[in-house]
Amino acid sequence: MMRERKTIKNWNCEHEVTAVCSDLIRFPSENPPCDVAALAMYISEYLQRAGIPTRQISSVPGMTSVIAELDFGPGPCLVLNGHMDVVPAGDRTRWSFDPFGGEVREGYVLGRGASDMKGGLAALLVAMAQAARWDTLRGRVLFMAVPDEETGGWYGTRWLLEQGFTGDACLIAEPSGINPTIGQKGALWLRAIARGIPAHGSLSPLVGENAILRMTQVIKTVYSIWERTWAFPPEPRRLISDTQSTLREEGLGVQAEALDHVTVNVGRIAGGDKVNIVADHCEAEFDLRVPIGISVGDVFSLLRQLVEEQVGSGVEIAPVRDPSEANYTSPADPFVQLVLRTIREVTGGTPRPVLQWASSDARFFRRHGVPTVQFGPAELQGIHGYNERVTVAQLVQAARVYALLIHDYLSPGNGECHLVEA
Ligand SMILES: [Zn+2]
Repeated sequence: MMRERKTIKNWNCEHEVTAVCSDLIRFPSENPPCDVAALAMYISEYLQRAGIPTRQISSVPGMTSVIAELDFGPGPCLVLNGHMDVVPAGDRTRWSFDPFGGEVREGYVLGRGASDMKGGLAALLVAMAQAARWDTLRGRVLFMAVPDEETGGWYGTRWLLEQGFTGDACLIAEPSGINPTIGQKGALWLRAIARGIPAHGSLSPLVGENAILRMTQVIKTVYSIWERTWAFPPEPRRLISDTQSTLREEGLGVQAEALDHVTVNVGRIAGGDKVNIVADHCEAEFDLRVPIGISVGDVFSLLRQLVEEQVGSGVEIAPVRDPSEANYTSPADPFVQLVLRTIREVTGGTPRPVLQWASSDARFFRRHGVPTVQFGPAELQGIHGYNERVTVAQLVQAARVYALLIHDYLSPGNGECHLVEA
């Protein structure tokens, strides 16, 4: 066992992890439409070649997940999760390379998904293949490559959890850089509908009631939630301010400021029928993100009350879809501590657990009571933008972190999450 462990830190996996990452990028799994069939087949075949029992299952036609399991007998189960879908490449003329070429140039792998998150998936795959050769471990590793993350995760990770695919701890290979992500804000998407009384435009505002005008008041009221300061419980308070200092050091001042506020975006509006009619209806949709430690339900009640007080009747406001609560795994959790030690050992750096301002499939695992951490190779600037890429050096580091994590999580005698010092 120790022989295996010692080799991990200098594990020469550069060629393998780079090649796999390029291969994954060449499958254009843009979501929408989230067609991952060919990519799922590639991943299955890769794992099967490594001797790992693998299968594909679909929640609905086209939404395929790959499940693979390393079974070393009784013991704890570590889940490794990554999504196969990527956001669309958008306007191809804005890219300075083929987003689905998977080209390797000057120490980078280039393409849509390089950071989010085919780089992470590639590193998970080579770590799985490596771990399949070990025979001194105890417990299980449950690998899942999922669809649908970029459109909510309902048909990927959430569905798998509902089918009973779960474990004692989970690592998601989402892009993070050196600092693992242990929590995320909640999301509250709302639709407001304002009603008015139609009349001839030539007599407005003497006659009728204009629904568009009413909606402008609703928008102002909803945006006022941004100004609020909130009373946080001690642990969220500490986590938020630690993350804020880390983000500010990295030049991410805007993201830092968003963490302890409810952010608001009105993303869509439609109303009225004709230029010379007083509008009798108007509809708008809002995206609000709620900090950890604050309940989405409380924010919604407050908003409804404010709209009632400040705009009055003639407005309905309701969630567009199931809101998701902000969630986090405590930095004191043994699994978080194990991940931190593993990153420290492999990279020689000083990782700090941080929160993310957006959300991911991690929320489903946390909702199922599974301690969950995100760590993966990343060049954060290119994510969801043009010219996405990832460094080969980070791919190698991630593969080593995952391999060491599998090793130490599944090593008998280590206690649940205790790392043996080298
Ligand atoms: Zn992602």
